[in-house]
Amino acid sequence: MAFKIVVIGLGKIAMDQHLPCITKNPDFTLVAGVSRHAKVENVPCFESLGALVKNGIAVDAVAICTPPSARLAIAREAFDAGYHVLIEKPPTPTVGEMINMIDYAKEKNRVLYVTWHSRYNKAVDEAKRLLKGKRVTKLKVTWREDVRHWHPGQEWIWEPGGFGVCDPGINALSIVTKIMPEPIFVERAVIEVPSNKATPIAAQIKFKHADAGASDMSAEFDWRQTGEQTWHIEIETKDGMSLVLKGGGSILEVNGKQIMEAPLEEYELIYERFAGLLKHGESFTDITPLQLICDVFMLGRPVLTEAFV
Ligand code: NAP
Repeated sequence: MAFKIVVIGLGKIAMDQHLPCITKNPDFTLVAGVSRHAKVENVPCFESLGALVKNGIAVDAVAICTPPSARLAIAREAFDAGYHVLIEKPPTPTVGEMINMIDYAKEKNRVLYVTWHSRYNKAVDEAKRLLKGKRVTKLKVTWREDVRHWHPGQEWIWEPGGFGVCDPGINALSIVTKIMPEPIFVERAVIEVPSNKATPIAAQIKFKHADAGASDMSAEFDWRQTGEQTWHIEIETKDGMSLVLKGGGSILEVNGKQIMEAPLEEYELIYERFAGLLKHGESFTDITPLQLICDVFMLGRPVLTEAFV
């Protein structure tokens, strides 16, 4: 029998990916939508989770697609109602809220699935396999995109807890933390914040290994790139392998040769995984990318830049 699911926060990603992928997946049936303004056709829609719960409609799980700062209270309300929860990335605005959400899911014996959509790519899996057991000597992440194209009119992204350029940047770090054979840590960072906003438009980050070993590991996020967009991760290992993931993790080059171009099916794979977790009553709550991004804010030297209009 299919899991009865509700999508909460009917904005861009809910409409572009969650709703179509739920429709395609026979393990799920969409039974309602929750959003203060938007609606979805052919199912009942509610302005709040409280109104849905009060209605008494049968629900197994919710997918929370609001901005991160609204999620902890919504997730706790969902667990209280007996629902399982899937959440978009970045999961919460702080590590503290994330830990509370994980603990509450355990206390209520519900499944919590922290999705990191950029990880769901066969080229990313292959990169992980190739890097297993190796020592990384160089990492260069270049994540440059046009904020006006990808986030038109989204004011929350410029507010505290909205992450700014670290909202797409965390996608890169979700890939990095999946494929790296050893954990990495933030050594230092510069975060460039427009004079009229609270979150960064660009960031330059230097990483280090846990030991004192030499390395050249960095990331550059920039939201001011127009024209062609760049989502590259370049890696070199001590034994001489060079590996490049391009196109946000869909194209893999090894030693200068393209060995894989994987189809984009991130959200199809997310719902496949969620169905598996629900069937086994298991949670997936990796917070490593969130921890790294929070450390960027913790250690980053802020620099004021031109106002963003
Ligand atoms: P969005 O278009 O702004 O949609 C979010 C929706 O959540 C809004 O339309 C709003 O709907 C609801 N919402 C906003 N603030 C809320 C609040 N305080 N409490 C409850 N509901 C609230 O944003 P999005 O682009 O879909 O992004 C949502 C999340 O998905 C972000 O974490 C983002 O990183 C992630 N994501 C986005 C993309 C993308 O391509 N855009 C891709 C992957 C992941 P109502 O006003 O109707 O309530």
